[in-house]
Amino acid sequence: MQISCEFFPPKTDDGAAKLRANWQALKAINPAYFSVTYGAGGSTQERSFSTVSEIQRDSGVPAAPHLSCIGSTRKHIRTILGDYKTQGIHRIVALRGDLPSGMGDPGELRYANELVEFIRSETGHWFHIEVAAYPEFHPQAASAKADLAAFQRKVEAGADGAITQYFYNVDSYLRFMNDCLDRGIHIPIVPGIMPITNYTQLARFSDASGAEIPRWMRKRLETFGDDMEGLRSFGLDVVGELCQQLLEAGAPGLHFYSMNQVEPTLSLWRGLNLRQDIEM
Ligand code: FAD
Repeated sequence: MQISCEFFPPKTDDGAAKLRANWQALKAINPAYFSVTYGAGGSTQERSFSTVSEIQRDSGVPAAPHLSCIGSTRKHIRTILGDYKTQGIHRIVALRGDLPSGMGDPGELRYANELVEFIRSETGHWFHIEVAAYPEFHPQAASAKADLAAFQRKVEAGADGAITQYFYNVDSYLRFMNDCLDRGIHIPIVPGIMPITNYTQLARFSDASGAEIPRWMRKRLETFGDDMEGLRSFGLDVVGELCQQLLEAGAPGLHFYSMNQVEPTLSLWRGLNLRQDIEM
């Protein structure tokens, strides 16, 4: 089973020190890699690079930078790939990204499949490439079928694996997996797991990304108000159950959206560890 954790680049020195302590603690879950997000349009690119470099150099866990192509050029992406190669980085999460509002030019590579193709043409098989998958479909997709076709193009361009957008409906993942098998897609598709620690933030992310919070969960989450402990305990219960069901259904691993926190991911993992029917 492949476990991985995702971080975002910290904005301050304090945040960087905290993140360092966090990845040190999260080594306990024996991750295959730590990934670091990347802001399209230049917002966090330098911080992504320094965070990735530090993880790769100091953590003993392979770093996997996210790289988005929207608003960029082939020349710029070539430079970034070269810099990562120099650092001995062999993994990458290849994305289209989203343009920051006000930035109109989509750049030279418009969709993630074009980025995957470019990475392969520039660097051969140096990088293990993950791409994004959407069991509940990407919010801009013309249709479910068009989104599956777009996913298939990324795989055909050379993706080795995929990480899903987070979701709370197991069935959406299982259906997605079946659709992929029907299309002859056999790469590992690892569910992205979003721990629940803050309802307002989660609702905002979900509205933007199209990841559904089922009505029954929303209703219950709303009742916690300022009771953060109650909310976290409910979140741990529900998301722990989700992880359990996914692994039992054959998911090849779990990718934790850590939100740069240790405890939510560690608690979920500890819960799994206690369950003897899962091979770790
Ligand atoms: P694509 O696969 O290119 O798809 C984008 C949309 O275009 C879909 O609706 C698809 O159906 C459609 N499409 C694809 N090809 C075509 C075509 N030829 N014609 C018409 N429509 C087409 N964002 C960041 O900015 N930084 C990050 O670090 C980051 N990390 C992420 C990690 C994961 C695991 C996931 C799931 C998402 C992440 N995102 C990140 C968000 C992601 O960038 C957005 O969801 C973005 O809107 C789509 O990226 P994509 O790579 O899935 O794009």
